Amino acid sequence: MIRLSAGTAAALGLRKIRMDVSPTTAYLFYGKECTGKCAFCPQAQGGRGAKNQLGRISWPVVAWEEILTAMPQAAENGLKRVCMQSVRQNKNLKAFLETLQKIKDVSNLPLSVSMWINNKKEAAEIFAAGADRLSIALDAVNPGIYSCVKGGDLAKRIDLLLECAHLWPERMSTHLICGLGEKEEEILALIAKLLAEGITVGLFAFTPLKGTPLVNRRPPALDVYRRIQAASFLLRKGWLDFSSLTFTEGRLVSFGLSVSRLQEYLREGEAFQTSGCPDCNRPYYNERPGGVIYNYPRPLTDKEEVTALMVLWQSLKEGTDNHSGKMALNK
Ligand code: SF4
Repeated sequence: MIRLSAGTAAALGLRKIRMDVSPTTAYLFYGKECTGKCAFCPQAQGGRGAKNQLGRISWPVVAWEEILTAMPQAAENGLKRVCMQSVRQNKNLKAFLETLQKIKDVSNLPLSVSMWINNKKEAAEIFAAGADRLSIALDAVNPGIYSCVKGGDLAKRIDLLLECAHLWPERMSTHLICGLGEKEEEILALIAKLLAEGITVGLFAFTPLKGTPLVNRRPPALDVYRRIQAASFLLRKGWLDFSSLTFTEGRLVSFGLSVSRLQEYLREGEAFQTSGCPDCNRPYYNERPGGVIYNYPRPLTDKEEVTALMVLWQSLKEGTDNHSGKMALNK
């Protein structure tokens, strides 16, 4: 069974919905019985979440023939990449690979895959089937939290991700969720490590969803998310070393850059746009239209840029005021 994100179905002309922002990647979702137990996900095994939901958005089932017919026109409809996500499945990789190859047969767009894999052999099979990128989602960045919300051993998943990154340089991605209880220092340390290994990081804000065990947990405070976005962006651009960052009790209080340099680097607002594989914008995955926007799926307006930066400046000032008197912006 294949689902498309509602925005993808609309962009391909298969459904009519009003969209403020169109996706720049076609998001497909494969399978129906997930064997994973992620506490934040409605697809989790045994969960009571809506099975047509991933993130905040709905994913209608679309007939396979309709998808194959529409996909050759994807580029004309503004789509620049295909992202094939899958439920965790322990046996059915062969059927998934066949589906992937059929997508490749009708589309020249670069193809990302995001799914649970058990070993590098499975990664090799996914690349051989036509994927240009593969994401192994870590989601949680702290071993204890990982074990609680996903089950299993974070260190082993990081090892597999690093092993694949060495075998397929610049072709591995991961997803990290901010707001599962980790410290800012932990998530940024991991982001710095992954980026140094050529791994692309798609940053998500935790989103409480009905029917999941974490439905009552709050999303991250916006100022926390803006600090993580800004620091990740600067690390990604190579404008910052992790060692330049200062933390107090795990909270980021200084970037170790002068105010003027930080303003220059963050001026365009790109830091606050969706991050991940090239051309992945995931519209409204974490947010309601009209609500707080964690990941902007398009360039920010001047007003949005000023507002995002104000949240960041204010939070750094508060960090300075509240913790040990360190200068927040410049050394
Ligand atoms: S970053 Fe975007 S395109 Fe890449 S795997 Fe994640 S959702 Fe798919």
